[in-house]
Amino acid sequence: MTFGGLRARTLLAVFGVSAVALMLAAVLIAIPIRAQLLRAIERSLVAETRLAAALLQERPTDGSVQALDREADQIGAFTAARVTFIAPDGHVVGDSAEDLAALEKLDNHGTRPEVLAARRAGMGVERRFSATVGTDLLYVALAVRHADVEIVRLALPLTDVDDQFRAVRRSLLLALTVALGSALGLAWLSSVLLARRVDTIAAVARRYAAGDFSAPAHDQGGDELGTVARVLDDTARELGRRMTELAQDRARVEAILAGMLEGVIVVNAEGRIILANDAARRMAQPDGLLPGRHYVEGVRHPDIGAMLGRALNGQTPEGLEFSPLRDPNRTIVARAAPLAAEGAAGAVLVLHDITDLRHADRMRRDFVANVSHELRTPLTAIQGYVEALQDEVPPDPGEAARFLEIIARQANRMERLVRDLLRLARLEAGQEPVEPAPTNLETLFTEVVTELEASLEAKGQRVVTEVGPGAGWLHVDAAKLHDALRNLVENAIAYAPPSTTITLASNRGDGEVVVTVADEGPGIPAADLSRIFERFYRVDKARSRESGGTGLGLSIVKHLVGILGGEVKAANRPSGGAIFTVRLPSR
Ligand code: ADP
Repeated sequence: MTFGGLRARTLLAVFGVSAVALMLAAVLIAIPIRAQLLRAIERSLVAETRLAAALLQERPTDGSVQALDREADQIGAFTAARVTFIAPDGHVVGDSAEDLAALEKLDNHGTRPEVLAARRAGMGVERRFSATVGTDLLYVALAVRHADVEIVRLALPLTDVDDQFRAVRRSLLLALTVALGSALGLAWLSSVLLARRVDTIAAVARRYAAGDFSAPAHDQGGDELGTVARVLDDTARELGRRMTELAQDRARVEAILAGMLEGVIVVNAEGRIILANDAARRMAQPDGLLPGRHYVEGVRHPDIGAMLGRALNGQTPEGLEFSPLRDPNRTIVARAAPLAAEGAAGAVLVLHDITDLRHADRMRRDFVANVSHELRTPLTAIQGYVEALQDEVPPDPGEAARFLEIIARQANRMERLVRDLLRLARLEAGQEPVEPAPTNLETLFTEVVTELEASLEAKGQRVVTEVGPGAGWLHVDAAKLHDALRNLVENAIAYAPPSTTITLASNRGDGEVVVTVADEGPGIPAADLSRIFERFYRVDKARSRESGGTGLGLSIVKHLVGILGGEVKAANRPSGGAIFTVRLPSR
């Protein structure tokens, strides 16, 4: 128990107040008791004096000092007080405490205050210290009707009063000691109980401060301390509720931010990161965006840093396009804005990765340019030959027939191109519904080969079909697979030299059927393998045109296989020639 502690102070206060109150009570009780005692003694001494006076008046004496002194001695024997007879001239003529010889030496008593009062009013009462006896004496003087005695005086030492009062004081002291002991005990008990409650409430408050609201203080006291505990519990409950709300809000914000494609970085007024979502981490320095770090560590790009700096100064800077230093192929648009919540300023940076958008835009532009170019080439040829036919000097019939044949071929090419473009557009727009049905691959292969019989014959090529075990049937949209395979075989016929063999095979894979189209042609340069499925991409433009290709065939194949749930890849065979592999899921 420290001296300054609540327990010590409560103990001191309660005990101190009790002690002062008890001592005051003792003093207040003692004073009237002493006065009461004195009054009682005074009353009995007055009565005794009256009795002594009556006795003196009843019993006649011869008036001599001897007789009067004897009378005084006799009356004095009946009372504990000293009896003195005083003559009208003030001389003592009888005294129960002095013998005759001593009477002579006594001084004149006529001027004693009690004697003077008795002469004046018939009776005088006086209390004063007697040097002879060494204690307080109570004097009662009474005027009597007697020939030789004017005043009868009785004197009583007050030692009795002091003795009685001492006894009362002893009892009072004992009572006071017991009361003080009880007060001390009670003070100690209440200080312990109070300290225990305060300690419990303090422990709960510390727990609340640490964020643990699991158990309330539960102090049932109706006093101020109980009120403090209840207010503390209410506060904790309210705080807990608000913290839950805050946590929910934060979780909601984090969920929204996590689901965003845009990168979001929020910094406080000092430029320290408060929040950064995964998208922002992907676009900026992943390890630099930890909360608490300065944004300069996370956003290393100087322009973006400057932009955030301006936003922190309350400005709204223009959006900025940049490429991250560690990934220059990407294009990101950054926007920053000041964040002015109540009392706290900061800034928010939003990063939008537009690489794909840019890519798509470039592809669209390339596509339009390619389509225009592809259409213009045959159109220019047709125009030229038509003009030649319309010439003032018409070509000879043989020449004219050749021109018309070229015009027809170019028109055909345009028609194929438009047809392929429309098909691609339909496939990309998802306008071709997939209608799967059990399909026999052997039959499908035969159909494709039969349709291309004329071209095969023209080049002296042949197609070998192989259907592996368990790969004869497939639940698939036969028409779409047919179109894809026909395209691949057409390419093989076009690019492989005459008199070569094309192999069309199906094999069972793990949960899939793998269809391959292999030829014995020149194959595809490794650098072009990844690009031949792009629209209008050709390894050798002249050769492709010559073969009548539109440059869209493989692109259509890729889309067809894609909507069938499979994938297509191109590779070169070790023995030479290209091989296209179509993997389709089998059920
Ligand atoms: P194209 O109409 O030009 O054939 P495709 O999209 O069908 O267009 O093919 C794209 C390019 O891929 C072709 O121009 C050609 O260079 C190459 N290619 C396709 N199939 C083969 C193959 N079997 N052998 C060699 N090259 C091929």
